[in-house]
Amino acid sequence: MNTSPASIYPESLPRLEEEAIQTRMMRELFARTRESALVGFLPVFLIVWSHWTAQPLGQLLLWAGCALLVLAFRVLLAHVFLASLPQTQIGHGRLWFGLEWLGSVGLAAVWVGSITMVGTGQVDALFFLRLIFIVALVAFLLSALGIEMRLYASFMTAIVAGTLWQLHRHYPGFVQELPVVDWAFVVYAVMLLVRSRGEHRRTREWVRARLTQRKLLDQLHQNIQQELQMHELLRSRTQELEATNRKLGELAIRDSLTGAFRRGHIEAELRRQVKAWERQPEDFSILLLDIDFFKRVNDAHGHAVGDEVLRRLATRAQETLRGSDIFGRWGGEEFIVLLPATPLSQAVEAGERVRLAIAGLEFTGEGGRRFGITVSVGVAQLAPGETADTLTERADKALYAAKSAGRNRVLAYEPGQTQFSHLG
Ligand code: GH3
Ligand code: MG
Ligand code: MG
Repeated sequence: MNTSPASIYPESLPRLEEEAIQTRMMRELFARTRESALVGFLPVFLIVWSHWTAQPLGQLLLWAGCALLVLAFRVLLAHVFLASLPQTQIGHGRLWFGLEWLGSVGLAAVWVGSITMVGTGQVDALFFLRLIFIVALVAFLLSALGIEMRLYASFMTAIVAGTLWQLHRHYPGFVQELPVVDWAFVVYAVMLLVRSRGEHRRTREWVRARLTQRKLLDQLHQNIQQELQMHELLRSRTQELEATNRKLGELAIRDSLTGAFRRGHIEAELRRQVKAWERQPEDFSILLLDIDFFKRVNDAHGHAVGDEVLRRLATRAQETLRGSDIFGRWGGEEFIVLLPATPLSQAVEAGERVRLAIAGLEFTGEGGRRFGITVSVGVAQLAPGETADTLTERADKALYAAKSAGRNRVLAYEPGQTQFSHLG
């Protein structure tokens, strides 16, 4: 994929092929042929109408038939060329050009032929000569000037030479009789013939510029599309990366067995809470949980069942706690809960809820035997001047006291007291 900015500059564009320019020129030529041939029908009808009574009808209709035939041929030729343009091979250019040449020389012959007819009538012959000359000139300028010099030259030669020849036949002394304006037309036509080379070059340049512009726009469009695709790709990759990073981050702070926060994360969180408390004191308590006689579970049912117990305990405890509580694995079969905005009494209540919820769990052990577990819970509330370590030490002491008192209970360590109380 080439996306370097240089690729939008014209120097790097493939050179415009001669064939493309030639095809485009032919297209211009035939478009003008069609227009001029359509315009040409009008003078034919004008001449037929004005000569209707002054002219032998057969001769008039023969001429009109030829004129219409030539015009129809030109319209049809142009139409077929333009309609088949996408498939038109420039290799067939000679054929198309030949047909176009035939049409234009045929047209010149028709106009010259009309002079013979007019010359035998009673209508002012010179007036019609001028009319024919002007109409033919304008029509053909539309069709060929600047596009195809050769066509223009053939046509002008045919019509000027034919007109002079016809004038000589009907008005032998016509050179003296022709007014200045008619000579001016002849001179003008010759001048245009000479100028047509420059016109032709200018038209080619115009066509080349149009094609270059089209190519540049296409290239620009393609580049923009590519850029958009790259942008989209980059965006989705970034999203994937962010998701992976989030997952990795979670993995780093979550315990793989139970999904609870790891001890490291909990300790950091605890320190953060203690710092926050120093700035703005607010009730903050913790729970320490330890499974009672967990060794027996492992011994009786195996380590795998022990692991399952730890998993389900963690899930159940988290279901019981509030969304703002932070549940972590303190080590082995010990768990910790951080309870922001919770005074000691409410922390003990929370501990009781967890204890009861865990006591309600039922497990299937070795040989399909069913069993349950209990936990002992130690509770402590952060006291002024305390650190994270002293807080967990006090919770641990309360837990130890709960164990000593017979397990399956919640005991709180109240600051300033040596006694552990069961507040629940
Ligand atoms: P107590 O009531 O005094 O707490 O008795 P206990 O048997 O639970 O004693 P203790 O707390 O010292 O027991 C810890 C046991 O927990 C030891 C170890 O086999 C088990 N344990 C620790 N981590 C895991 C673990 O990840 N998986 C399993 N299956 N067992 C574990
Ligand atoms: Mg233990
Ligand atoms: Mg234990």
